[in-house]
Amino acid sequence: MACIFCQIAKGEIPSRFLYQDEEVYAIRDISPKAPTHVLIIPLAHIPAATDVTLQDARVLGKMVLVAAQLAQREGLAGRGYRLIINNGPDAGQVVQHLHLHLLGGRPLGDMG
Ligand code: AMP
Ligand code: ZN
Repeated sequence: MACIFCQIAKGEIPSRFLYQDEEVYAIRDISPKAPTHVLIIPLAHIPAATDVTLQDARVLGKMVLVAAQLAQREGLAGRGYRLIINNGPDAGQVVQHLHLHLLGGRPLGDMG
């Protein structure tokens, strides 16, 4: 089955990358829930947080690092931001390829 985030990683769907290296990339969410809504995505197809293994520790760390750097670039470092990984149906995960949401630019309330 086609995975949209794998297709973007391979360049099969043209996208504007805010960040890109050999492990992760970042794009703006197509349906933003806040003034800044960026997705940080591993190139490897990891379906969900449930599937993460210790071998993925480096790429997970990279995702948080890139999120923090992009938050700084977007001017969010001072006022704050939220990082979210949705996992499974109750969390509303719709794309079955692990991704970290970076949200900020407005007060975000008690939950994501
Ligand atoms: P989640 O609910 O955590 O699975 O979030 C998936 C997110 O991916 C949603 O916020 C969508 O708006 C976003 N999304 C889906 N397709 C694309 C796309 N082609 N480019 C950017 N964001 C997308
Ligand atoms: Zn994928």
